[in-house]
Amino acid sequence: MIKVTVWNEYLHEINNPVVASVYPEGIHGALSDGLACEDVFVRTATLAEPEHGLTEETLNDTDVLIWWGHLAHDQVDDEIVERVYKRVLAGMGLIVLHSGHASKIFSKLLGTPTEQLKWREADEKERIWVIDPSHPIAAGIGEYIELEKEEMYGEHFHIPTPDQLVFVSWFEGGEVFRSGVTFNRGQGKIFYFRPGHETYPTYYNPEIIRVIANGVRWAAPSATAAPVYGHAEPLEKIAVKA
Ligand code: ZN
Repeated sequence: MIKVTVWNEYLHEINNPVVASVYPEGIHGALSDGLACEDVFVRTATLAEPEHGLTEETLNDTDVLIWWGHLAHDQVDDEIVERVYKRVLAGMGLIVLHSGHASKIFSKLLGTPTEQLKWREADEKERIWVIDPSHPIAAGIGEYIELEKEEMYGEHFHIPTPDQLVFVSWFEGGEVFRSGVTFNRGQGKIFYFRPGHETYPTYYNPEIIRVIANGVRWAAPSATAAPVYGHAEPLEKIAVKA
């Protein structure tokens, strides 16, 4: 059983009737419905909850954390960001979606100003091309996924060179974007996946859910031994040199 926590700031759905009509149960509700299955247990957490719903207990019981935020990145408590950061380094998977690119946790893990990219809201077509057909995150997807209407994100996207580039998006207006990228930090695996602007029903699209579900399985902890740092006693007797 893989334990997933879907974190959503949950503000657009409360403040904006258009978004509320697309996601009446919240973006976290739609993701939870799409991802829960026989061997994936999903709980949700939101900004307004005590400790943003990300208590030590919850995080210690989470294999993969999914992050959606947009309006309130600066309202996420630094102490909670630090707590998530340590859990990722210790092996918890992290999937950052759409505008989560500008979250404190994503830029802290990547070390670059990840909020920097181009954007435009113009109801344009997005074609998400599979760049690495061998990658487990692309399993079950054809050559590309097409979304009739999405927000545009364009390069340059200020991230370090990804460990793996899985998807690149093309937009009707002409831009391209590294839409599916992975990074390893410590024992933890990170997957960033671009689509999911709040006014579009993107998280009901079965192919988008398939990619996120694949991401959950890919990012789940590998149960590897924790690295040991610092001064080390020799494993063998070191011969005394003359
Ligand atoms: Zn957006």
